[in-house]
Amino acid sequence: MGITVGIDLGTSNSVVALMGPDGPKVLLDGGGRNLQPSVVALGSGDQPVVGQVARQQLNYAPDTTIASVKRLIGRRYNDEETQRLRTQVGWGISEGENGDARLRIRGNTYTAQEMSAHILTHMVGIAERSTGEKVENAVITVPAYFNDHQRQATRDAATIANVNCIRIINEPTAAAMAYGYHEQKNQRIVVYDLGGGTFDVSVLHLGDDLIEVVATAGDTFLGGDDFDAAIATHIRKSHEAAGGSPIPTGHDSTVRLMQAAEKLKHQLGEGLEASIKIPGLARTAEGKPEDVDAGLNRVMAHKICMPMIQRTFVVCDDALAQAGLSPAQIDGIVLVGGMTRFPIIKEAVGQYFGEEPIDYINPDEVVALGAAIQGSRLTEVSEEPAPVLLDVTSQTLGVATVGGFIEPLITRNTPIPTMASKVFHTAKDNQTQVKIRIHQGDEREARRNYMLGDFILDGLPEGPRGHARVRVTFNIDSNGMVNVTATSSGTGATKEIRVEATSSLTPDQVEELRFSKEASETENSGDIEPAAESSSAEVSPSEALEWDLD
Ligand code: ADP
Ligand code: MG
Repeated sequence: MGITVGIDLGTSNSVVALMGPDGPKVLLDGGGRNLQPSVVALGSGDQPVVGQVARQQLNYAPDTTIASVKRLIGRRYNDEETQRLRTQVGWGISEGENGDARLRIRGNTYTAQEMSAHILTHMVGIAERSTGEKVENAVITVPAYFNDHQRQATRDAATIANVNCIRIINEPTAAAMAYGYHEQKNQRIVVYDLGGGTFDVSVLHLGDDLIEVVATAGDTFLGGDDFDAAIATHIRKSHEAAGGSPIPTGHDSTVRLMQAAEKLKHQLGEGLEASIKIPGLARTAEGKPEDVDAGLNRVMAHKICMPMIQRTFVVCDDALAQAGLSPAQIDGIVLVGGMTRFPIIKEAVGQYFGEEPIDYINPDEVVALGAAIQGSRLTEVSEEPAPVLLDVTSQTLGVATVGGFIEPLITRNTPIPTMASKVFHTAKDNQTQVKIRIHQGDEREARRNYMLGDFILDGLPEGPRGHARVRVTFNIDSNGMVNVTATSSGTGATKEIRVEATSSLTPDQVEELRFSKEASETENSGDIEPAAESSSAEVSPSEALEWDLD
């Protein structure tokens, strides 16, 4: 029997943790580091390099060094985020056969799943070297807002890396588990997670034997990178305002400027002022390199960062409103993500909630620690049942109807696993087939939500409009993954169809990408059945509703 680890597969950094006899702990690499940059460098060798070493290559080999692949995983080529990322990375992005976004590097095409798989392999390697044991299972965390495609793609990454992913859990839920491990129960807590590229906030209830996510909200375009960009703009402006030569706007210069901005930001945590010299970053009119002396103090940083911090509070307002709570009703605040080490943010969060966030759990480690706790609960064979973890779906799931609007079947913040079904009828006379489009998102208008996929149910009995009936059933499992079936029940004949995930890889494609197992690996000790994997909840199908589908 091997060990079960928890992996925080982050956009900027990843962390692996294990539940030990004295509680959960983060596993360190050979250099004693807890954080591994989520960077993959496809250098000259056969094997890609991952982590610290890869991150160093970002500067001089940006075309073969991949950072932030999490922003691409499970995305379509046409997604707004994909197009945004395109302008920010040194490698190419192309469209895969399913419309998915793929990486284009030196004439080769790769999937984001493969790149994430390299990171997972690296994390498992660290765990195995640090414990001397084989990793048998993993609980992997994803942002609460991840849709079905992104969850599926993360799971596929685990399969490609030969990692047995026994559960995907939401990052804030994991953080709450780590908090709950130390705290007395019956508390209402907030998890405030500001990472490299995203902001997430969740309100949770820690009960005696369950942790319930009461509400989640987030902003996928707000994170540490935005603070770096704002500081970079400040450096550029102050240098030029002080009579310095322009700083070029090309990719390489921008990367260097952003890195300097990030360094300033980290330094500012230690003191009231920070400064850094960036050799030869600016260019004189004659084309000669010129040094840039960048500086930042707390007052300036406050001015630069406050608008972004305020944006996080708008999201907090939303989450609290959903939970029907005011900031003062919150018992504990858990900070997650490297950005929350920034003193200005810690202070502002304390002011917003009128209470200091807890400081005894490292915000970089808390998610992985919680995943490790969950891993041990899922695999533990003990007489005393471990607390059940109740998670919620963070986006509404529904079907597009004739008018172009969403008919929601499972609304946001419903505890999972769950199922719901509704009966729809045909919109035209003698209609023998319906197209069922499934959307995930909270907008009323269908086209403004993410379309998970569609399918056609045919063979409906002919008749006047409204005669043929179709029951659509949605099922969300405890990983937050969606399964949809439709049954034509007009004549008693039933037909079930599974939705094809349109931007994901097929099981065959995943198999093809699967890394060959190294000879050094010990043999697989067999699959274990994950415990506590319930197939459906006791949710009665909603009332039958008549609705037109085209
Ligand atoms: P992710 O969840 O996206 O992987 P992390 O939680 O690792 O991200 O957060 C990365 C962000 O945290 C980066 O923007 C980084 O600059 C920032 N960060 C890390 N340490 C500090 C620090 N001491 N002060 C300010 N920002 C920090
Ligand atoms: Mg994170």
